Amino acid sequence: MPLPIPDSFHESLLKNDEFTITYELVPGRGSGGKRLERILQLAEEAKKDGRIKALSITDNPGGHPALSPTSLGLDIQAMGISPLLHFSLKDKNRNMAESQLFECHRHNLLNLLVLGGDYPRYGFHGQAMPVFDLDSTQLLSLIEHLRHHSPLKKGASGRIMELPSMNFFSGCVVSPFKTMESEQVWQYVKLLTKIRCGAQFVISQLGFDMEKYEELLRFVRDQKLSIPLIANVFVPTLSVAKIMNSRRVPGVILPDRLLQCIQEEAKEADRGEEARLLRAAKMVAALRDMGYAGVHLGGNNLNFGSISFLLDNAEAFTGKRQELREDIHFPEPSTWYLYDDCSQEPRKRNLAILFAANDLVHKQFFCKEGCFFSLAEKISNIAERNPSLRRFYTFFEHLIKKILFRCRMCGDCTLAESSYLCPQSGCPKRMINGPCGGSSNGFCEVYPEERLCFWVRAYQRGIEPDCNHINGLESIPPKDWSLNTTSSWLNFFSGRDHCRLKNKERRS
Ligand code: SF4
Repeated sequence: MPLPIPDSFHESLLKNDEFTITYELVPGRGSGGKRLERILQLAEEAKKDGRIKALSITDNPGGHPALSPTSLGLDIQAMGISPLLHFSLKDKNRNMAESQLFECHRHNLLNLLVLGGDYPRYGFHGQAMPVFDLDSTQLLSLIEHLRHHSPLKKGASGRIMELPSMNFFSGCVVSPFKTMESEQVWQYVKLLTKIRCGAQFVISQLGFDMEKYEELLRFVRDQKLSIPLIANVFVPTLSVAKIMNSRRVPGVILPDRLLQCIQEEAKEADRGEEARLLRAAKMVAALRDMGYAGVHLGGNNLNFGSISFLLDNAEAFTGKRQELREDIHFPEPSTWYLYDDCSQEPRKRNLAILFAANDLVHKQFFCKEGCFFSLAEKISNIAERNPSLRRFYTFFEHLIKKILFRCRMCGDCTLAESSYLCPQSGCPKRMINGPCGGSSNGFCEVYPEERLCFWVRAYQRGIEPDCNHINGLESIPPKDWSLNTTSSWLNFFSGRDHCRLKNKERRS
């Protein structure tokens, strides 16, 4: 195994007086070619220049197949620059994720950016199967286990094994750029859950609204968290700006006013490149003045000369945040801001009544203080011992829950944690710990303009996510697939479902 090498990204980020710069590389499909040569040349030049502390490498970006980040990460590491691998969960189940973590650790690829990832798109002979066996909070928990060599269960027998600790440096992402309260509040709640699960740094979604960048910083400070925050600054070409403006990049908003600016700039002889780089330089300077720990740069077809020009100018603009604001602040009209005095998003009255009714019934059966808890527990214990009764009990549960909640019989019910909506049938990524970052204007990344995001619907029904206290935020553990198609009621009363892991607390 190679010896640990000093890591410039980790070191830089933990120094309070240093502003950390990273740059995002996007490998394409295939193991070589011109695109990869350009990437490696950029990495060489970045190493010589020394200002970029890590090169991040995307993991099947946009849900398409591409060269694996581990492979490119090894090349970059060999050049003497820190790789930051994106580690997404769309294409791998928990065992593959763990196996790749071992691979990364073996090769000293320790900087990981954990994210759910875009919904898988077209691959060999059609659209790939979306996996999402774990979500980002659950993978962060696994990494935290590996970091602290916490015992891991070896198999169904319950035997325990301990692995040597693995010193990963893992971060997460958050979007402060959601336009609706119901989307934004969940983003912040999930951010707190990710931090609680072990995230050691945070990189924001890319955006162009400076008030939203300020909001994220203020939110993290209000929570008294000292985690390093990195702002994402992207330099879009005109064609990419058009794609982003039409909301075809999941979770990204590029307002009309900015698109008009870029269109005007594109009429210049250099097709607007200098203007775009200067705008990004001003953003970098303003974000540094604001108090961000660093910036994560990205852009299509940027060569190192352009990046160097951007960074030189960012130095020159430092300390002029207020003067620059006019040139770099592009809010989306009717955006909801956390610290604004604006009215709350209206809850739908009929849905709120439905939520309250479901909650009342649920508590009577599944909360220790409920009127029918003891009876339900007794019947479950009998059904547990009698195969015919168990089959009838399971059929009865499925019938009721299929009609009422479009239940998929996953055997580990989380209805009570998501406003009595079923994430297994209602969310294409089956997110059980809050939304992914892909929604836009409240609509799901996978069905834009067609279906509201599952978690927006959950919010509108009336669930109250608590983003005031990080200590209350538990991540629901990954679903145990051996429970699939079994009765979640039986699993609840016999302590086989996720409640067992929540200190055997009964759902309330
Ligand atoms: S329903 Fe929401 S959380 Fe689920 S995939 Fe769509 S946008 Fe993401």
